[in-house]
Amino acid sequence: MATLEAEALRKSFGGIEAVRGVSFAVQPGEMLALIGPNGAGKSTCFNMLNGQLRPDAGRVRLAGRDITGLAPRQVWRLGVGRTFQVTATFGSMTVLENVQMALLSHHRRLGGLWTPVRRMDRAPAEALLARLGMAEQAGRPCGILAYGDLKRVELAVALANDPRLLLMDEPTAGMAPPERAALMALTASLARERNIAVLFTEHDMDVVFSHASRVLVLDRGTLIAEGAPAEVRANPRVRQVYLGS
Ligand code: ADP
Ligand code: MG
Repeated sequence: MATLEAEALRKSFGGIEAVRGVSFAVQPGEMLALIGPNGAGKSTCFNMLNGQLRPDAGRVRLAGRDITGLAPRQVWRLGVGRTFQVTATFGSMTVLENVQMALLSHHRRLGGLWTPVRRMDRAPAEALLARLGMAEQAGRPCGILAYGDLKRVELAVALANDPRLLLMDEPTAGMAPPERAALMALTASLARERNIAVLFTEHDMDVVFSHASRVLVLDRGTLIAEGAPAEVRANPRVRQVYLGS
């Protein structure tokens, strides 16, 4: 069964039809890239998938269950993770504490009791950070981390919730090319390891074509191509949208 199905999603803002009937499915363990020019409707799609925006029409199903119109918190509880900026809220907490907090809220979601972070077993958070290559930064406040490291903390926080789907809207924005490739390679190996479906947007076509298992192309609110990276790259309509040729 598909991890997530989007069926005929539509969303307008005033007179602007941002998303005009978009359907696709995300399979367990796959790295699905949603690409398209600025304003194509990628973020609007993401926001409809995690409950941030209610679609004007269409349905969203998670492992067969209709989740259309649920609040972001409910969607998150059902296992849809989204990377977000850690800096804004938890910059003074250490990397380890951020991950412990995330594990704690997951634990509570499963019906566990509240435990103060300082009394929690550190091992699970440390193991997760080690897997992400962040063991050495565990004791540092998030506020002083380099941007690329902060992105890994975001990923750790999202993974602490044991998601079945991870939504990453421009995860590598603002990163240098080698860092971008490293973050996406890490994400891809974690997705395989944990059978997590990943849906991501990305501007860097090198990153898309080396890390996506499948690619969807959105242009002015409509999907114009879908397929394996090589197939999509050779598609004349995609070339026209991207290269104007
Ligand atoms: P992308 O992420 O592909 O760059 P978006 O989904 O952000 O595209 O935007 C798609 C279209 O919808 C754009 O024309 C954008 O200006 C418009 N749009 C997005 N969000 C809003 C909003 N909250 N209010 C009004 N217009 C919006
Ligand atoms: Mg966007």
